Amino acid sequence: DRFLASLAIVPSSPPAPHRVQDRTQPPSPAPRDHFENTPDTDTSVAANREWGARIRDRMPTSELGNRTAEEGVVHDAAELDEVLARAVEAGQVWRDLGADRRAEILHAAGDALQARRAELLEVMGSECGKVLEQGDPEVSEAVDFAHYYAEQGRHLETVEGAAYEPARLTVVTPPWNFPVAIPAGSTLAALASGSPVVIKPAASARRSGAVMVEALWAALDDAGVTRDVLRYVQVSERDLGSQLISHPSVERVILTGAYETAELFRSMRPDLPLLAETSGKNAVIVTPSADLDLAAKDVAYSAFGHAGQKCSAASLVILVGSVATSKRFRSQLVDAVTSYRVGRPWDETAQVGPLIGPAEGKLLRALTTLGPGERWVIEPEQLDDAGDLWRPGVREGVRPGSEFHRVEYFGPVLGIMTAETLDEAIDLVNAVDFGLTSGLHSLDDDEISTWLRRVEAGNLYVNRGTTGAIVQRQPFGGWKRSSVGTGAKAGGPNYLLGLGSWTDRPVTG
Ligand code: GLU
Repeated sequence: DRFLASLAIVPSSPPAPHRVQDRTQPPSPAPRDHFENTPDTDTSVAANREWGARIRDRMPTSELGNRTAEEGVVHDAAELDEVLARAVEAGQVWRDLGADRRAEILHAAGDALQARRAELLEVMGSECGKVLEQGDPEVSEAVDFAHYYAEQGRHLETVEGAAYEPARLTVVTPPWNFPVAIPAGSTLAALASGSPVVIKPAASARRSGAVMVEALWAALDDAGVTRDVLRYVQVSERDLGSQLISHPSVERVILTGAYETAELFRSMRPDLPLLAETSGKNAVIVTPSADLDLAAKDVAYSAFGHAGQKCSAASLVILVGSVATSKRFRSQLVDAVTSYRVGRPWDETAQVGPLIGPAEGKLLRALTTLGPGERWVIEPEQLDDAGDLWRPGVREGVRPGSEFHRVEYFGPVLGIMTAETLDEAIDLVNAVDFGLTSGLHSLDDDEISTWLRRVEAGNLYVNRGTTGAIVQRQPFGGWKRSSVGTGAKAGGPNYLLGLGSWTDRPVTG
């Protein structure tokens, strides 16, 4: 792998200002089970520069990466039937291997993802605008999913009094905003559960999905297992997408996307066995007892990491009591937000990257207009004609029940609300239809326990940002309209349980 080889190059020029100082050492092997969703410090400055150059030039990734994306296109119902039939057939082979052998292969898949870290970063940057600072932990998360689910798969066979039957076929429909970690996580979970997988990445993340699939194929190839266990498809028209979801062979669909997409899938097939992580409208509450420096930094990062294009992103900050009436938090927030370096992925120091496409619809409205009583604290600024690169904006005066209070925008704009008490702030959080992530900044134990008891969201973060859930430590999933289907959290101990079906069996011994 010529790009990995470049990781060992000692840079001749001084390190770039914002990156880790000493990246001149050759990489050491990655730990296999660290479950740390942190950037890979082995990535050298030289590698970053080369990566940047390749992104800028939009060089193709691997031959295979491009070919896969082309070859995956299914044009008609007969082709689709054929793909699904082969996957179902291969599923029998996969099941017969047994959980231990599957676990070995999935650990190897994790190693294969790690070995392609540079290539994955490159394709995420060129295709989806992921900046290095966001893409690097994403690859780590994908690797963590592989090792975690590999082990979780073994437990399915050891449950007393119940026998687990994997799904005959699982369809995975991931989003473009985490174009590697989410497709990898869903696919690896289903494979670990013993099911074959057909994956259809979002069209705007099709190459990233292809490179991820190739990494998993490498592990299957090495184990002598047919690639039909994991099929990659793109559909040429929407009808075929509907046929994919509705096909009688498909026993589970794992979706990550908008709530409306889950609804659409259900309209295509009312009895759909769906596991869906859907939209969020997430808020962070800051009380007077908080460490305001930390709160400002965490709110800014949660709102504007990946330009706010995360289901987990903070879209609202609710200031309580004196935090609302004094200028201090606002000015710290302004400092934090305006210090971000906005840029395209080929600038390895960029912290806030571009949107997946030009801002339009409700997001464009949120970036350019204010609701009644609202004011800009920082007005969003479009940085070039393409319409996808924006300096983030912050508005205040967001009123309870207003559009900005309730609607998910999925972009670089944050709203400030105020409340006199913590309870009032929690009511504002709970008033929205979604319940994915929620944050509290407070150093008061009573406030923390009140909030933990009352707040309606799947992932609760105290004195930490609302993004960047960590496999095994912070499984990820929501309540209310943020979750459709089983509701089990990804990256947690219950996730695989919902991927197959259970029958009673007599307890022996
Ligand atoms: N798991 C990601 C996080 O914790 C969010 C995934 C998403 O946006 O769907 O930030």
